[in-house]
Amino acid sequence: MKVTELDNITGSLSKPSKMPGYAYGLPAKECKTGKKLQEVKGSTCYNCYAMKGCYVFKVVQAAQYKRLEATKKPLWVKAMAAQILRHKSKYFRWHDSGDIQSLKHLAKIFKVARLTPDVNHWLPTREAWVKPYVSRAPKNLVIRFSMPMVDQAAAESWSHTSTVVSGPGRTCPAPDQNNACGECRACWDPKVKNVAYGKH
Ligand code: SF4
Ligand code: SF4
Repeated sequence: MKVTELDNITGSLSKPSKMPGYAYGLPAKECKTGKKLQEVKGSTCYNCYAMKGCYVFKVVQAAQYKRLEATKKPLWVKAMAAQILRHKSKYFRWHDSGDIQSLKHLAKIFKVARLTPDVNHWLPTREAWVKPYVSRAPKNLVIRFSMPMVDQAAAESWSHTSTVVSGPGRTCPAPDQNNACGECRACWDPKVKNVAYGKH
């Protein structure tokens, strides 16, 4: 498939400046759980980063909604795998904004990961219904449950989690290295059970 055909099917991938690879952004307004948490003071979605700054530019919003529609297309799985391989990156982040929409959507992400076995995939989510399906995820996909509240302890029942801390305990080194991942790959690393981010 030509690059323009791939872009037509999937929409473009994004390249967050702090990350070592590419990502796929969906609209934060359409997050199923996140939409509710955005209203909850003290939650990790309150003041959502993806609802401000350049994320609210019309062109960015249009691209996010185009991707959201794209996930429903029959060719999306194969085209996404081709897009990821075309960019030759070993690390892929699902949803630099937005979240999983449905079980069908999750199953498609599993298929994309299986079609790209040499790529490390990281899927953060606030969707608790995903838990029973985590054990069926391909080995190259780390699903991290993002704890809903700031300073909430990591849930032991999930194999991989992320937390947000307002005080000591941050393990993400990005703020100490120009807000970039640098050599760190903890979010993608299945050996890392929890990643603690600092509160912005
Ligand atoms: S899940 Fe992420 S993108 Fe969605 S509302 Fe929460 S912080 Fe924002
Ligand atoms: S923990 Fe590491 S990989 Fe994850 S966001 Fe922070 S610097 Fe990047």
